[in-house]
Amino acid sequence: MLIAGLLIASQALAFEPAVNKHGAEVSWDVMPVHWTYDDEGRPGEVAEDEALGALREAFASWNAVPGARVRFIEDDGTTPLDELNVVYWKPEWEWDADILALTSTWSQEDGEITRFAIAINGQADWATDGRKESMDLQNALTHEVGHALGLGHDESHAEATMAPTAGFGETGKRKLHRSDEDGARYLYPDGSVPMGCASSPAPPSVLWALALGILAAFRSRHRSRKED
Ligand SMILES: [Zn+2]
Repeated sequence: MLIAGLLIASQALAFEPAVNKHGAEVSWDVMPVHWTYDDEGRPGEVAEDEALGALREAFASWNAVPGARVRFIEDDGTTPLDELNVVYWKPEWEWDADILALTSTWSQEDGEITRFAIAINGQADWATDGRKESMDLQNALTHEVGHALGLGHDESHAEATMAPTAGFGETGKRKLHRSDEDGARYLYPDGSVPMGCASSPAPPSVLWALALGILAAFRSRHRSRKED
């Protein structure tokens, strides 16, 4: 009985919805969500098409979850609303050096996400071919896109995309783990999210930001940060 109970508990804790300061789980009310990529500040060791390719694959992985109504669409950033959801390089990284990337989501009090931004640490050593001495860009971005959907860290599966750490040369997070897919299905059960135009952003006073990062190299160290 005790063993069965532990198993149930551990399964229940597989994925972790992110919660805002009002206690609401955060998610998008309307799909699709448009995103844009800003190439400014990209480090020289990664070519623009490599970076964009890694990013497209990261979004595509979540779009492909069976039974989840997740749809990200790449946009050219020509409309003001689409510029809200941007993936960009930050050459002067102001956070811990071992945080590879940082995703912020802004949500309403009831948890509706209205905006996200993914900052990539431009000082980290990136590659797109999984080479051992570098951090794999698609590996990290697939994790960050999970945050943009409203998922927090999965502390119970080291191999999950939403596990909080990544190692040099690691590419395992490119492919979603069952628990990652369960998280997407939990937040976006098929048929639950209307497809249409995204609603207008709410006034800044009712928005708040949630920021989560992933760490490089040290699995024994875990930090996540939240900020208002
Ligand atoms: Zn993270």
